[in-house]
Amino acid sequence: RIAYVNGQYVPHEQAAVHIEDRGYQFADGVYEVCEVSGGRMVDQRRHMERLVRSLGEIRIAMPMPMAALDVVIRETVRRNRVRDGFVYVQVTRGVARRDHFFPDPSTPPSIVVTARSVDPRKADALALKGIAVITAPDNRWERVDIKTIGLLPNVLAKEAAKAAGAREAWFVDGQGRVTEGGSTNAWIVTAEGKLVTRQADTAILRGITRTVMMEVAEKLQLRVEERAFTVAEALAAREAFVTSATNFAMPVVRIDGHPVGEGRPGRVARALREHFHESAEIT
Ligand code: PMP
Repeated sequence: RIAYVNGQYVPHEQAAVHIEDRGYQFADGVYEVCEVSGGRMVDQRRHMERLVRSLGEIRIAMPMPMAALDVVIRETVRRNRVRDGFVYVQVTRGVARRDHFFPDPSTPPSIVVTARSVDPRKADALALKGIAVITAPDNRWERVDIKTIGLLPNVLAKEAAKAAGAREAWFVDGQGRVTEGGSTNAWIVTAEGKLVTRQADTAILRGITRTVMMEVAEKLQLRVEERAFTVAEALAAREAFVTSATNFAMPVVRIDGHPVGEGRPGRVARALREHFHESAEIT
């Protein structure tokens, strides 16, 4: 495998950043994960727009022009012979002597691009069974709309999920309402057949998959309501599911050990999953 690191393509096992990289020291950086399907990029434009937004929110300069980043992404996919998989892009505030204050503005941001293959049949097999989730207090900071590499609460919550035999943790705010998953957006389908997912304010990441699924839902003539829902509402729902670039739509069949609906993957999640790539922008 080959990784792109600050201007060079290097063997993956030798790819490294400096110990004084601010990503390493302070989690002072942002990232994106973008799907590759059939050798082409899925919704790259939207992912790159979100990268630009995340960088702007924490005042890191774009490390290279977008056209150049596009070339690097394609070249990284090509060199790794990825047909189906994912591209990972991470940008940090660069290397500087450890000091909380921003480094001198002349300090170049660090950029890493990697790509890897996945077997799409594995996720499809999982989607046929559905996943279990646990709930956990949302103890993250108040700007999780920024896709930062500071993911310790997400890591701990997902590990707790794993220990409980689940795949994902749903964060719950102080009012008992679900914000989002550790690495996914959370959805339910109400008894009336309405899709509900939390409004994209600063309490969730505005998932690209979430946005595309809204378009898919519209084409399927399904109603979508952007509002918070409680864990109790999710348990009483007909269906629940999560969305992300790596999961598309993944049915949730258990929450904290209790079945959702009939405890089986629902029709809406399956339909959204099937139709996702028709609404995604493939380039
Ligand atoms: N929320 C969180 C916290 C995430 O980490 C992710 C995946 N990066 C998502 C939502 C889903 O975003 P997307 O659909 O853009 O992958």
